[in-house]
Amino acid sequence: MMSSDRKVGVADMITMSEIDEIGINQNLYIRYISDIIYTYTGSILIAVNPYKNINIYNKEHVFKYHTCKLGDLSPHVFALTEAAFTSIVDDHINQACVISGESGAGKTETTKFILQYLCTITSNISSWIQQQILEANTILEAFGNAKTIRNDNSSRFGKFMQVCFDDYNCIKGCVIQDYLLEQSRITFQSEGERNYHIMYQLVAQGQKNIHIANAFHLRPPDFYKYLNITSTEQININQESMKFDAVTMAFTVLQIPQFVIDGVFKVLSSILWLGNIQFLDIDGEGCDFSNSDQEAISYISNLLGLKRCDFEKVLLIRQINVRGNITEIPLKIKEAVENRHAMAKALYSRTFTWLVTKINNCTNPGQDGATFLGVLDIFGFENFSHNSFEQLCINYTNEKLHKFFNYYVFALEQSIYKQEEISFDHVAFTDNSQCLEILEKPPRCVFKLLTEQCHMPKGSDSAYLINLHSEFEFHPNYIKGNDRRHWETEFGIRHYAGSVIYVADGFVEKNRDVQQDVLFHHMSCSEDMFVKDLSNYQDHQYISSSYSRGSSKSKCTVSDTFRHQLQSLIDVLQNTKPWYVRCIKPNLTKRPNNYNHSLVLDQLKYLGVVDIIRIRREGYPIHLSHEDFIVKYKCLMKDKSVECQHKYVTDILETVKLPKTEWQFGKSKIFLRSVVHQLLENKRKEN
Ligand code: ATP
Ligand code: MG
Repeated sequence: MMSSDRKVGVADMITMSEIDEIGINQNLYIRYISDIIYTYTGSILIAVNPYKNINIYNKEHVFKYHTCKLGDLSPHVFALTEAAFTSIVDDHINQACVISGESGAGKTETTKFILQYLCTITSNISSWIQQQILEANTILEAFGNAKTIRNDNSSRFGKFMQVCFDDYNCIKGCVIQDYLLEQSRITFQSEGERNYHIMYQLVAQGQKNIHIANAFHLRPPDFYKYLNITSTEQININQESMKFDAVTMAFTVLQIPQFVIDGVFKVLSSILWLGNIQFLDIDGEGCDFSNSDQEAISYISNLLGLKRCDFEKVLLIRQINVRGNITEIPLKIKEAVENRHAMAKALYSRTFTWLVTKINNCTNPGQDGATFLGVLDIFGFENFSHNSFEQLCINYTNEKLHKFFNYYVFALEQSIYKQEEISFDHVAFTDNSQCLEILEKPPRCVFKLLTEQCHMPKGSDSAYLINLHSEFEFHPNYIKGNDRRHWETEFGIRHYAGSVIYVADGFVEKNRDVQQDVLFHHMSCSEDMFVKDLSNYQDHQYISSSYSRGSSKSKCTVSDTFRHQLQSLIDVLQNTKPWYVRCIKPNLTKRPNNYNHSLVLDQLKYLGVVDIIRIRREGYPIHLSHEDFIVKYKCLMKDKSVECQHKYVTDILETVKLPKTEWQFGKSKIFLRSVVHQLLENKRKEN
């Protein structure tokens, strides 16, 4: 039974009599201090990050929740997963668990619990595929997570994992889609932050094992610029090297051959060496290498299997293709430095996408139509003191998901009431359609104007900003800024979760998909099979674009590609039964037993929890056909003969003795408020 004891608060907040924000917050707090981190709001699960291990995830717990209905036991992510899984078994409908919350709230941990649950309940003797799915996560975390000030294991990419089931409801595979890996982290990290975990793991392994150090030309961690931008933190060699072993193990489980694994590490080592090249200025016109660069250049050429002269050339010279004629222009020192950073980022992001594809090839469920349970673990809303292109993409994602959430929770519910002719006061919700229009609606929107700049040879951030201001100055979701100092450098968007000011500096460059065509061309002749494969690997799409005017095809910008990915995600989600987990971060210091009320309240607001509770309570969340209702609650009646369904349903409802305002007959269904449902359920269980 779900508890509603005063000491442990209310398990499902829809049943609460106090529905204001303070009541919700107090309820979560009471539960949190008793180490009860999960609470329902109807079928939406709220999870407060405990920042400590709570013993509720072992096998006994898995099997306790398995075959139990949502609400039978105390709230748990396992209960939600079980409900979604049951819906696959019973209804053969695709499911999606949408996990949201800000950085450090617990999205990735929740994702892992869901996968752990599914893999455990479906495991049999040959649970190879289950292992591969879990190990895929080990690899993705090593390559895609890093320490930030908000989270020691922050995912720097979004992911949607579809676990696929066969006709016997056994797991038959998994498909992963990744979104927007943060590339800037490869070459730069802010104070207190780190590069991707795998970099330290590899370098630590080199410290432990001389063969590894020699094979990949590895040096101690403090040797590398890319690992020591601001950080003065000592790395724990033993710990990192153990994690390295776990990653190598995961590669093996995913059947990635040793020479390919070596190839991946060669590329990583090359990236680290790239960061150490210094360049020398030649009269402000071009540049050359310093003596100390020779070692780096020869190691990188060796690791990537490139001809040294070819590699030196890509570092110092830009080749421009003007109508078939190649012109060579020496790079000025600043350009060479930037170009080298761009190479490092391109190598890393290609390796990452390559890994995702490789994992997918391995865990591919095959073509025939399987049902799936998708888990979406994607970046939450961000509003920092300095917001850039990345934040715009992240907040745009959240607008899209919020609209999807609104549609399911509010709009759909209200349209059903209308259809069933249920009398119901319209409940206001935070409709964000207007904000989405300014961001994405063609022909003139925030993203299109940016792409337009990126396709112009002399496109610039300031021209972009001028266009934005003149287009949207009077749009209700646009903020131009009050004075010149601000409007010359920034613009603001009123998002559903709050206003965010974006600094335009760098937008055009970040959105341009700077490709390292020449480098990858040389890599295609490499003797190393992985390096060669990486060079042929296409992770960029080309689409026809109205900007190309006559010329056949035009390159997608970063935001174009991302918008398409996001749209196809929404298209997939629209055809699933969605489940929501709202993760809450109780404090900013990553500490256990520390609950900051105002911090939690902000999150409850923008995660829509306050709205859901209101609409659910004002509405009738339980809808049952007369037949289903009778089957379920017939047990409460002495007289089991049903002559008129309508009358029989009324008779049953009268047994709970609640006013008629608490339930209504629709055209085809009976609609109940949560209280009625709860009472009926209690009686049914007593019976
Ligand atoms: P980001 O957006 O930065 O990726 P996130 O929402 O994915 O953040 P997680 O990495 O899942 O956050 O969680 C951050 C940390 O909080 C974890 O490393 C872990 O220490 C702790 N944590 C989260 N959930 C739990 C839990 N259920 N039990 C114990 N600790 C947890
Ligand atoms: Mg995460």
